[in-house]
Amino acid sequence: MAPPSGGATDRTLVPVQELHDAPLAPLTTFRLGGPATRLLTATTDAEVVGAVREADDSGTPLLIIGGGSNLVIGDKGFEGTALRIATKGFVLDGGSLELAAGEVWTDAVARTVEAGLAGLECLAGVPGSAGATPIQNVGAYGQEVSSTITEVVAYDRRTRETVVLPNSECDFSYRHSRFKAEPDRYVVLRVRFGLEESGGLSAPLKYPETARAMGVEEGDRVPAAAARETVLRLRAGKGMVLDPEDHDTWSAGSFFTNPILEQAEFDAFLARVADRLGPEVAPPAFPAGEGRTKTSAAWLIDRAGFTKGYGTGPARISTKHTLALTNRGAATTEDLLALAREVVDGVHAAFGVTLVNEPVTVGVSL
Ligand SMILES: Cc1cc2nc3c(=O)[nH]c(=O)nc-3n(C[C@H](O)[C@H](O)[C@H](O)COP(=O)(O)OP(=O)(O)OC[C@H]3O[C@@H](n4cnc5c(N)ncnc54)[C@H](O)[C@@H]3O)c2cc1C
Repeated sequence: MAPPSGGATDRTLVPVQELHDAPLAPLTTFRLGGPATRLLTATTDAEVVGAVREADDSGTPLLIIGGGSNLVIGDKGFEGTALRIATKGFVLDGGSLELAAGEVWTDAVARTVEAGLAGLECLAGVPGSAGATPIQNVGAYGQEVSSTITEVVAYDRRTRETVVLPNSECDFSYRHSRFKAEPDRYVVLRVRFGLEESGGLSAPLKYPETARAMGVEEGDRVPAAAARETVLRLRAGKGMVLDPEDHDTWSAGSFFTNPILEQAEFDAFLARVADRLGPEVAPPAFPAGEGRTKTSAAWLIDRAGFTKGYGTGPARISTKHTLALTNRGAATTEDLLALAREVVDGVHAAFGVTLVNEPVTVGVSL
């Protein structure tokens, strides 16, 4: 196969690796899903753009894959071209960082901490690629990428041009962005961050559990390396750090987003909680702007009776975290979805709240 040579507009580009009838399950953290008609792996931006243009020109459906840690692919697989993004690039200039989409996110976080920068340390351990982080505005332990992303460089499939979108045009909100809202439009090529040159201190800790674990108050700063290690330890205890030996991590992390309820919905929810669990029980509730309230999906699932380890089949709830649905080794995507539907129905019956899946589904839906 010819090596890539030209720029982003070179139509003769041939991606370096091409497979047919290629299994996708090994490319996902669930280890689920059937094959793709064709699988390409692109290692430069030019290859990515060339492959996307080729698919679009021929009207072939396209699936972009980073680390496969937020993907539920149907058992029948994907009829079209799956494009795996394996570009590399970590460029640091003071507090300005540019990451190629294919960089491994958690490794990039470690390098920023080593460089004495603050802003990403609590996002250590989140699997997947840098290029996917803007898609659902990755967040954990009090940090979200929307707080530090300055620009996203993306190929716009509608205009067929590479665009630079400033943070203000990314429409970031909780687990959401314009990239998620328009899934077939943008292919992220590079993500730029503005990090604080903090001399090795973390950003002020915003997550009570992290502050508690470190014996400090919320809002305090601690050595960023220690914050990163604490987050990694806390995450590992919940099966939220990838470990091929541990089926609790054969997941997409949280399977459901935390529901955000309008005032009337929240009032109805409180009434159901009082009915079912007693008036003294107060569910988790956090202001979510515009009079809305965010509650906890994990709390809902647990209180609806789906406790850790729930299930008897090959797909079960993680033994370490109620929010993670997992493949115990022999599951199919249909097994996983059956469990997900059981949880959604159970929570709805108990509390009148409809849970929404966080991972992206391909060829299937809940
Ligand atoms: C154990 C575990 C823990 C997790 N913990 C967290 C957590 O704490 N917080 C959190 O937010 N998430 C978490 N996740 C979810 C997941 O890691 C993130 O959503 C991650 O950003 C997905 O990256 P990825 O490269 O694996 O994306 P993929 O799964 O490959 O893709 C996800 C979606 O993004 C699209 N996509 C990927 N790359 C690009 C690109 N370059 N351009 C355009 N579209 C693209 C794909 O087409 C797909 O729609 C966790 C997952 C697991 C398995």
